[in-house]
Amino acid sequence: MALIVQKFGGTSVGSIERIEQVAEKVQKFRENGDDIVVVVSAMSGETNRLIGLAKQISEQPVPRELDVMVSTGEQVTIALLAMALIKRGVPAVSYTGNQVRILTDSSFTKARILQIDDQRLRADLKAGRVVVVAGFQGVDEHGNITTLGRGGSDTTGVALAAALKADECQIYTDVDGVYTTDPRVVPKAQRLDKITFEEMLEMASLGSKVLQIRSVEFAGKYNVPLRVLHSFQEGPGTLITTDEEESMEQPIISGIAFNRDEAKLTIRGVPDNPGVAFKILGPISAANIEVDMIVQNIAHDNTTDFTFTVHRNDYLSAMRVLENTAREIGAREVIGDTDIAKVSIVGVGMRSHAGVASRMFEALAKEGINIQMISTSEIKVSVVIEEKYLELAVRALHTAFELDAPARQGE
Ligand code: ADP
Ligand code: ASP
Ligand code: MG
Repeated sequence: MALIVQKFGGTSVGSIERIEQVAEKVQKFRENGDDIVVVVSAMSGETNRLIGLAKQISEQPVPRELDVMVSTGEQVTIALLAMALIKRGVPAVSYTGNQVRILTDSSFTKARILQIDDQRLRADLKAGRVVVVAGFQGVDEHGNITTLGRGGSDTTGVALAAALKADECQIYTDVDGVYTTDPRVVPKAQRLDKITFEEMLEMASLGSKVLQIRSVEFAGKYNVPLRVLHSFQEGPGTLITTDEEESMEQPIISGIAFNRDEAKLTIRGVPDNPGVAFKILGPISAANIEVDMIVQNIAHDNTTDFTFTVHRNDYLSAMRVLENTAREIGAREVIGDTDIAKVSIVGVGMRSHAGVASRMFEALAKEGINIQMISTSEIKVSVVIEEKYLELAVRALHTAFELDAPARQGE
């Protein structure tokens, strides 16, 4: 008998019919003798709807109040699923994050889980009940409701699996696993049987939203066996593993991630003295703005141009800070660009292969796509390009690195 944590995402609980289907699925696992803890998201679109309501009151809603409101989405689905299970004769009970006591810090809208009390859950499991827990939410030490950031139900699932030492955490969603890239953008993307934690972490942090980054971090740290599966189609899904197979067939890159969430800022004609980078980025970090990619170019006239990217939500604040800095240090001008996208190739196979970056640049050059910034690490290469070429770039790279699925007959 196994203990399994099963997380169902928004589309999988997006209607009463779907919730009934999830209940049927959970019932089958119960009948097999497994102990089940289910984590659910809000019905698809609900979290966005709630945020939309808040924005009608204020462009920047008070984070504490926003969390009180957006956490209601999951409270509806846990109750509905528990009802659907009980209707089928499966004993079940639903809990909010507060009721379980999923203790988090007090960073409203992006809280981190600190501790989970497993007593109540264990008692229910022992009594033969399926426990249905609200994803995405917790409670801080003062009793305030917190939420874990968008996509945070994945993290609730993995954290519960870690706390309960579950045999597996299954993330059920609307695709049948992790693909070489988003299958909605590249129809020729292929499902991966396995991907390493390290690669999945890079893919998630570089923009593949199939798993929330923190859920992968958590699973890696606590060694939680994690699998991504389709909610309503049978199949093996994708296992996230620590295994790094050294087989001949190991692909050089495992996947391509991309995001449209960043914006680029450039400060030009900065007098080139020691400490320039600190003078520019110090005030940005003091304003609590995270910087991602950075490039510095030396010009002929003893000045330098300095470019970096930030999240698009931080673009306007970063611009204001940078304009101040430019005045203080006597820079020539500040320019910004929000029409950019970042495309990254990811794979542990890069460690043992030279020339991966140049193959990437060649594929982009063939399509006439200009690279604006580059950054590399041991297992990834990222480039910033003009946003309008994003899909073309992803498809070209998918083909260049031989990730395309073989054409089916008749295609
Ligand atoms: P859920 O509501 O179940 O949490 P999400 O929308 O958060 O579902 O995540 C699933 C979606 O992630 C898929 O529909 C797919 O479009 C997207 N996605 C992005 N990159 C990938 C990838 N590499 N593999 C699979 N899905 C991906
Ligand atoms: N409902 C939340 C969101 O839409 C959490 C989740 O779905 O994981 O972000
Ligand atoms: Mg999700």
